[in-house]
Amino acid sequence: MLPNKLKGFYLEKNISLSRFTTLRVGGQAEWLAEPTNIDEIEKLLFWANNKKLPCQIIGAGSNLLIADAGIKGLSVCLRKFQGSKINAVTGIVEAAGGEPIPALARKTAKAGLHGLEWAVGIPGTAGGAAVMNAGAQGGSFAEIVKSIKVLPLIGGSPFEIKVEDLKYDYRFSLLQKEKLIVLSTQFQLQTGHDPSQITKVTNNNLVHRTTTQPYHQPSCGSVFRNPEPFKAGQLIEELGLKGHKIGGAEISKIHANFIVNTGNASAKDISNLIEFIQEKVQTEHGLLLEPEVKKLGFYPIN
Ligand SMILES: Cc1cc2nc3c(=O)[nH]c(=O)nc-3n(C[C@H](O)[C@H](O)[C@H](O)COP(=O)(O)OP(=O)(O)OC[C@H]3O[C@@H](n4cnc5c(N)ncnc54)[C@H](O)[C@@H]3O)c2cc1C
Repeated sequence: MLPNKLKGFYLEKNISLSRFTTLRVGGQAEWLAEPTNIDEIEKLLFWANNKKLPCQIIGAGSNLLIADAGIKGLSVCLRKFQGSKINAVTGIVEAAGGEPIPALARKTAKAGLHGLEWAVGIPGTAGGAAVMNAGAQGGSFAEIVKSIKVLPLIGGSPFEIKVEDLKYDYRFSLLQKEKLIVLSTQFQLQTGHDPSQITKVTNNNLVHRTTTQPYHQPSCGSVFRNPEPFKAGQLIEELGLKGHKIGGAEISKIHANFIVNTGNASAKDISNLIEFIQEKVQTEHGLLLEPEVKKLGFYPIN
């Protein structure tokens, strides 16, 4: 079905969400929109609130497991809401909610700014990464975010939240508990670095990632949070579970904390494999692995 432009925004009905997640699974969105600017986002929320429709935000869908039954109400995907402003003199960077992290890491490296080199292999958006406190190789959003601009899903005016009020912790921010849409993120990066040196480190980080993770297969990155001081991947690998399959979902043979879609996985296959791993690790190690991946549409337990 072709998108309909209604009152200043495009809407589509009954759209498969599998191409909106990096796992390449997920049922249909009852309504789907991909706004490109704040005006469209505000109009969409007004429309959904008027109709009393629940509203879900999707970034690049790189940390999402969407149920086969799909999502009721309006799904707003922000991956077309891109843009960034980079000040190489002050180190202040502002990125729109849908700005891809790898692109932002490359642009800031080119400007000689230090602080995002570790992020080049994270295929999310600036908004999704601010919500998740994305991190790698010892770096995380918590250390570079200055503030974010948000809009309440129930409508209202945009407002700013300072980093100290986001309660950042390991893969956690208060945003995971609030009904807010991240419109933009402001970062403070370090100035005065050699662009070619920062670019080299950034490139090396990407190479490291593509050689140690199933980077080119459909996945959601690490499925489980690391239960400090242990590594979830190591616990799973020690149980000999690499390569174990349920339907089309497989525990990666390259990295045991990744589940890959081998081609025809359903969300149910992935969800069953997550539970299978949890049971095994609980029985053998006495630890309950907590999923890092966010589930959407698994009613009523969401
Ligand atoms: C190959 C691969 C490697 C990965 N490596 C890493 C890694 O090294 N480190 C790491 O931390 N993560 C990693 N991830 C996971 C993922 O990329 C991050 O969690 C990323 O930050 C998610 O961003 P996203 O835009 O895809 O968010 P989504 O997956 O679309 O959404 C995640 C959550 O954020 C919410 N959300 C998204 N955007 C917004 C917004 N603008 N406003 C409000 N809420 C929003 C969603 O509703 C959902 O609850 C990896 C994933 C893959 C596929």
